[in-house]
Amino acid sequence: MYFDTAETLSREEIDNLQTVRLKSTVERAMRSPYYGEKLKGFNVDSITSVDDIRRLPLTTKQDLRDNYPYGLLTCSTDEIVRLHASSGTTGTPTVIFYTQNDLNTWANLMARSMHIAGVRAEHRFQNMAGYGLFTGGLGIHYGAERLGCLTIPSGAGNTKRQIKMIQDFDVDVLHIIPSYALYFAGALEAAGIDPATFTPSIALIGAEPHTEEVRRKIEEMLNLKAYNSYGLSEMNGPGVAFECVHQDGMHVWEDAFIVEILDPETLEPVKEGELGEVVMTTITREGMPIIRYRTKDLCRFIPGTCACGRAHRRLDRIAGRADDMMIIKGVNIYPMQIEQVLMGLPEVGENYQIVLEKEGFIDQIRVRVEIKEDFFEEDMRILKGLQKKIQTQLCNEILVTPRVDLVQSDSLPKSEGKAQRVVDQRSQED
Ligand code: ADP
Ligand code: ZN
Repeated sequence: MYFDTAETLSREEIDNLQTVRLKSTVERAMRSPYYGEKLKGFNVDSITSVDDIRRLPLTTKQDLRDNYPYGLLTCSTDEIVRLHASSGTTGTPTVIFYTQNDLNTWANLMARSMHIAGVRAEHRFQNMAGYGLFTGGLGIHYGAERLGCLTIPSGAGNTKRQIKMIQDFDVDVLHIIPSYALYFAGALEAAGIDPATFTPSIALIGAEPHTEEVRRKIEEMLNLKAYNSYGLSEMNGPGVAFECVHQDGMHVWEDAFIVEILDPETLEPVKEGELGEVVMTTITREGMPIIRYRTKDLCRFIPGTCACGRAHRRLDRIAGRADDMMIIKGVNIYPMQIEQVLMGLPEVGENYQIVLEKEGFIDQIRVRVEIKEDFFEEDMRILKGLQKKIQTQLCNEILVTPRVDLVQSDSLPKSEGKAQRVVDQRSQED
């Protein structure tokens, strides 16, 4: 059962549609001051296939910042009805503008995304993401309404009230950021609520990198199925790529976006199925089309077709952001490598933190881990053994021996929005 006819497009139909829409996008983008200059003299009719996208220039976050606020607008602000901003995880936020048509298209993509994960009009849906400039609030909200769900805009935080609303309204579906989902699951447990009596059967999780181990933990602790949701404000927000009920990678909506995976060094396409930087082009957006945007997200396409039969290609779980890479003692380390080890251990609780320190001239990595109450023994020898075990397993994965601090559950700082996993204290100690 489909929400949208675009879901049934064949590979050939997608390719043809992308070519047509790429042409109209470039034509439209050239009306903006930024692309007007950048693409001066470009002959739109020379685009005859999707591969011609490689003749177009890449766009970076810095380009968006340099042309803030209106440099990429293709129309007057009279036609713009809303703006959103990125969360600013990696610096000054960037701003995206939407026309009414852009909002309609986005709501449709979002509704389609929720639908492939099994969400239906009769469901009650609680959106536990921050409202405001962050796209995960209103973006998902309008999609849920388009689908016809009873939509509860509960927003982020206030865990007690969240639980009460879920119980009072027999909520079926949650949208929740993975790091908060872990914290929330711990809070449910602490409140003595049996997950078997917890009504939601579906959680949409995304907005920040997380591992398969975290997904499984969320599914177990909340007794539901969790579906990965990928999006970024530069490409509207959520509703870019979504897992279907098979939970086997996220279908990118290729009728709305062209996705390339490039080697971040050479900027050439990687081989099919290899890891690289996700580069995306909007092909339905009116107000602020963006061509070949370098997301800095590292990912790969999953080869082959999904059991659901949709031809829209699937992105694997995001391996991390290029900006997240830490170099310790000459070794490249990503936070997700650490999370994968920690969340696979039964003793580990819901939160962890990575601290980068300097000792003399040498960089050190410290991992602070919350331990579940049942395992947080008074007996120092047992605790020491656990600490050693975690240290060894981390060392096997990241090839550097980290310092490991075991701390009590619910003691590490948590955020209402995206988790801040890494604290860099190196410059302060110089
Ligand atoms: P910011 O870059 O400031 O966080 P956004 O709020 O637009 O701005 O967030 C988009 C980014 O969030 C993506 O580029 C990606 O790094 C991350 N992200 C979003 N969804 C996922 C997901 N499902 N898995 C991993 N990372 C994600
Ligand atoms: Zn599928």
